[in-house]
Amino acid sequence: MTARPDPRDLLDIDSLLTDEERAIRDTVRRFVRDRVLPDVGDWFERGEFPRELIKELAGIGLFGMHLTGYGCAGTGPVPYGLACMELEAGDSGMRSFVSVQGSLAMFPIHRYGTEEQKQEWLPRMAAGDAIGCFGLTEPDSGSDPGSMRTTARRDGSDWILNGTKMWITNGGIADVAVVWARAEEGIRGFLVPAGTPGFTTRNITAKMSLRASVTSELILDEVRLPESAMLPGALGLRGPLSCLSEARFGILFGAVGAARACFEAALDYSLSRIQFGRPIAAFQLTQRRLAEMAVQVNRAALLAMHLGRLKEAGRLHPAQVSVGKLDNVRQALEVAREARAMLGANGITLEYPVIRHMNNLESLATYEGTAEVHTLVLGQALTGIPAYRTDSAT
Ligand SMILES: Cc1cc2nc3c(=O)[nH]c(=O)nc-3n(C[C@H](O)[C@H](O)[C@H](O)COP(=O)(O)OP(=O)(O)OC[C@H]3O[C@@H](n4cnc5c(N)ncnc54)[C@H](O)[C@@H]3O)c2cc1C
Repeated sequence: MTARPDPRDLLDIDSLLTDEERAIRDTVRRFVRDRVLPDVGDWFERGEFPRELIKELAGIGLFGMHLTGYGCAGTGPVPYGLACMELEAGDSGMRSFVSVQGSLAMFPIHRYGTEEQKQEWLPRMAAGDAIGCFGLTEPDSGSDPGSMRTTARRDGSDWILNGTKMWITNGGIADVAVVWARAEEGIRGFLVPAGTPGFTTRNITAKMSLRASVTSELILDEVRLPESAMLPGALGLRGPLSCLSEARFGILFGAVGAARACFEAALDYSLSRIQFGRPIAAFQLTQRRLAEMAVQVNRAALLAMHLGRLKEAGRLHPAQVSVGKLDNVRQALEVAREARAMLGANGITLEYPVIRHMNNLESLATYEGTAEVHTLVLGQALTGIPAYRTDSAT
């Protein structure tokens, strides 16, 4: 008779991975078990990102791992996704750091930068010796980045940047900020090194989500940059949007990791928590919850793997990434909320991972395109009609 399936891998998704992919996943899983899980509750409570782990994350090749050359691992998209899944099973702060470093800071330099820019930044960033951030969102410009007010004006051969960026992951600890600004010819990307006169940052501390992650405001006041700071290959919103599509790919895997961690916490708890003389896992209502959660986690993992294989084949469309980002985050939030309820009062403490993931997932639902924005992306992909604003159908 066929053996009972592994409750932690109900659909045997493990069998969809190559040996190399499994090895990378296991390396990251071990790192999370040994270096993240023992302390992450404290980091979250104190609102700290563990900077001491940056070199270790670099040591296992996670920064820009899906990019080639310049010290990057060049592993392809599925291993990158699996790494995101495992990191986020630890905490979204870890995954967000790696996503921003690799997909939002290194990727634009790799894709749109000059050879000099690549040589200057990418090897150091891959090694964890330089940290990057990505400044697109502004206080008055979130879902609609085309409304940005940050400007870049020419002054001789220099550029002068003015404006404020908001909610920028890694902003306060970054050595280089990829800043998107409105120039006369359209939106341009700039590499702004920390310490450039007129460039300051301020951390946003009163957060209840992604507490083990640095989120900052970037202030640009008459920041003078040489021509060589501009990314020549990107003009218009397509530049930053392509970076976001890369990062969303990591998020849709990451959400599976958070959901899996919540499901496993609920499963373990239900088997050991006794009420009415029985483990709560013995009640039909609990089993229904567990069954629903297992289906959601496995379905999300399958979707992530399918999109990963499409990306590997060079056939992944941004609208397909939207399907994954929208639904995997939504499913993960539902799983987290069910798990929270199953843990009863313990579910609201940081002794268990569930409420931490639940709160983190609220950020996932907002950043890199809110659930509503991805719904509109899909609406446009299905109908051909953009519905972002009332006049956009015309
Ligand atoms: C923890 C965290 C980290 C972040 N890191 C970064 C980063 O590193 N770099 C960066 O640039 N940004 C970052 N962001 C910002 C993030 O990308 C924005 O928060 C996001 O794009 C949404 O913008 P907003 O918060 O201004 O919301 P808004 O755009 O003001 O939206 C508010 C609400 O209105 C809805 N809405 C907006 N437009 C429409 C519409 N047309 N139809 C229907 N509903 C609509 C939205 O879905 C949302 O529910 C981060 C955010 C968070 C929370």
